[in-house]
Amino acid sequence: MTIEGIASDSAEAALGEYDVIIIGAGPAGLSAGIYARRAGLECVILEKGVPGGQVLTSPNIENYPGFPEVNGMKLMELMADHAKRYVDIREGEEVLRIRGGEKFELTTTSGRYTGRAIILASGGQHRKLEVAGEEGMTGKGVSYCATCDGFFYRGHEVIVVGGGNTALTDALYLNSIGCKLTIIHRRNAFRADRHLQESVSQHKIPILWDTVVEEIIGTDHVTSVRLRNLKTGTIQVNDVHGVFVAIGELPSSQLAAELGLDMDQGGFVIVDRSFRTNIQFVYAAGDVSGGIRQIVAAVHGGAAAALSCFEDLMNPYYRR
Ligand code: NAP
Repeated sequence: MTIEGIASDSAEAALGEYDVIIIGAGPAGLSAGIYARRAGLECVILEKGVPGGQVLTSPNIENYPGFPEVNGMKLMELMADHAKRYVDIREGEEVLRIRGGEKFELTTTSGRYTGRAIILASGGQHRKLEVAGEEGMTGKGVSYCATCDGFFYRGHEVIVVGGGNTALTDALYLNSIGCKLTIIHRRNAFRADRHLQESVSQHKIPILWDTVVEEIIGTDHVTSVRLRNLKTGTIQVNDVHGVFVAIGELPSSQLAAELGLDMDQGGFVIVDRSFRTNIQFVYAAGDVSGGIRQIVAAVHGGAAAALSCFEDLMNPYYRR
């Protein structure tokens, strides 16, 4: 294993020894925690922020069975409360390094842990446009979370960039709270679910097709965007107060790289059907392992990873 950097004689006290350490408290990590504990494994979930992952930013979810319509924050609150009945979730504790060996040693922002196995459920992070002005205007009109920031833009002109489920869900939410918005999409067709496309059409939300953002302009706050039509080459500058970027996500796979896990070209951890990685006693589930990136899939992945881990660690009777 190619993990460096932690002196085993570190002065920091070990915070705990576990059968399995779960990294990330999104749907995959929470589900893994419930299944691991119920199987009898000693485990802890380490979460660098708060439980919930990217679902927290989804204003409305309509495809998680049992919840015809639920706010992302609410769903994750319920899921985290459920997991906490079984497993300790250490919030605000980021895993900085992992070292393999007979056991895995993790150094976090609070101390050290050892575990016989790891379930990596570290999720993803927002993809950026990488255009001029984006970085400087982040938090000053550029947002990656319509649920978090939309409220401040009621009555104002905003754009939503993207053509997937997130972009259209965000657009519908922003429209519902009174933002004046236009969707900017680089192609002439959305990839979002048909149901969302029909809602956008019903609400008559304006769309600029075949268009990209070339620059986000502003000093203290966003004032306009420079747009380019990819088919005609036409440039236009639109006055806007907010730019909501919803163009997908990238896996948070830095720890995976440190562990030496096999990853695909997109940086997603490669797992088998049982969510085992190429390294023994390391499993990955949820957005970090790619796939269809749905809550229901993440929940499945976490549960399956925990059960594989149980099988590998405990070698139960039914495998003999
Ligand atoms: P996504 O499905 O990957 O869509 C990203 C969108 O952004 C695409 O339309 C893409 O355009 C566009 N895009 C990517 N890079 C771009 C760039 N540099 N400049 C401009 N546009 C760019 O991402 P997502 O919508 O965040 O969804 C992520 C996953 O979560 C998906 O699996 C999705 O189904 C799931 N999700 C599900 C729900 C739900 O079911 N309710 C809600 C949210 C998310 P192209 O189409 O041209 O590639």
